[in-house]
Amino acid sequence: MIIIGAGSVGVPTALATASDGLKTLVIDSLPSVSQADNKHAIGGIRATHTQKSKIWLCQRSIEIFEDWEEKFGDNIWWEQGGYCFVAYTEDHEEMLKSTLQLQKSYGLDIEYVSKEEIKNLIPGINEDNLLGGTYSPRDGNASPLLSLHAFYRQSKKIGAEYRFNETVTDIINKNGMITGLKTNKSRYNATHIINASGGDAKTIGKMININLSVIPESHEAGITEPVKKFFNPMVVDIRPAIDNVFGNSKNYYFYQNNEGKIIFCLTPEPSILGKDRRETSSFLPQITKRMISLMPRLKNIKIRRTWRGLYPMTPDGNPILGIVEGIDGYINAVGMSGQGFMLGPGIGELISRLIRNKLSPQDKEILNDFSFTRDYDMEEDLK
Ligand SMILES: Cc1cc2nc3c(=O)[nH]c(=O)nc-3n(C[C@H](O)[C@H](O)[C@H](O)COP(=O)(O)OP(=O)(O)OC[C@H]3O[C@@H](n4cnc5c(N)ncnc54)[C@H](O)[C@@H]3O)c2cc1C
Repeated sequence: MIIIGAGSVGVPTALATASDGLKTLVIDSLPSVSQADNKHAIGGIRATHTQKSKIWLCQRSIEIFEDWEEKFGDNIWWEQGGYCFVAYTEDHEEMLKSTLQLQKSYGLDIEYVSKEEIKNLIPGINEDNLLGGTYSPRDGNASPLLSLHAFYRQSKKIGAEYRFNETVTDIINKNGMITGLKTNKSRYNATHIINASGGDAKTIGKMININLSVIPESHEAGITEPVKKFFNPMVVDIRPAIDNVFGNSKNYYFYQNNEGKIIFCLTPEPSILGKDRRETSSFLPQITKRMISLMPRLKNIKIRRTWRGLYPMTPDGNPILGIVEGIDGYINAVGMSGQGFMLGPGIGELISRLIRNKLSPQDKEILNDFSFTRDYDMEEDLK
């Protein structure tokens, strides 16, 4: 089998398939693992979603991240600091409380906590109009780059092979059956091809004449100097910000990483479509306003750098996974939106079971929810 893309999804998929004894080759245009959007992720890992299949996939991913160091010895900066979605309006409080019941029914460890508890979890958070929020202690964060390199080394140990600096240019199928692919350097035979090409998913889809609804959107992030650790959770402020000078944003999220640096991101409104990865001059003035208003004590912290990357978005914010009718051996693992790092390990194992015909009833439900032919109209509350 060949995986196109050595990113957030391709590398853990190679780890899973090689572990299960499948002869695995990964091909990537770039010079090493994690060089496209994996390294742009800020490292948040949560099972706190409202879509059940996403909850299940990320619950499995969390198990893989949390056991990694003990099992394989690599420090991937995993920290189980939890996630806090904070509520400043009654509407948001009501929305968070109502999604909580659903989340609990899928086995999530999550509670709605009081304003006082939020203040303890996030010392220095702006108290004005703060009502409370959700806290899910099993969620966490890890370094995307360290994690992918750890998965990469382990997958190579058990037989996965990688070809870098090589671009897939065509997929070969004979009478609806995959037989291999072509790159700018060579030609390979394969019975299975996994499309894990992130922001380029559409181009790969075109090679087998399917139209994948994956549109890259650009998002910026940044990181501060290190300071003594003073909070653990990923903080998510779901209030939209309206600012005519620097642009608007849908929400804002940040955490303090393993080195004490605060790492932050926001969702621009309207979305910025396209593949432009050059940082803008409007991001910092925009995000620092949100940052200081939510956490006034951050007003003197220095920001070290910013960057910009892509969310490979689908219309409903959910991934597209699994087979395509009529093309035996082709499998989608695309459309990860803002969640590819947290979904990757869970998806990798699912794909391995799909190829080996070992799907559980839960796997079938996930593949049905995220199938290529689903109705893309439903959007998650916590997208
Ligand atoms: C600012 C920012 C913050 C984010 N924060 C988080 C977060 O906290 N948590 C989280 O889970 N996610 C986060 N994300 C989203 C996450 O980065 C993406 O969802 C994820 O990286 C997508 O994974 P992928 O494997 O699909 O794509 P990628 O990781 O981009 O990998 C795709 C690979 O395919 C290769 N490729 C493409 N076309 C070809 C071809 N023709 N031939 C060969 N190789 C090819 C590319 O070179 C690339 O290496 C964030 C993203 C951004 C931009």
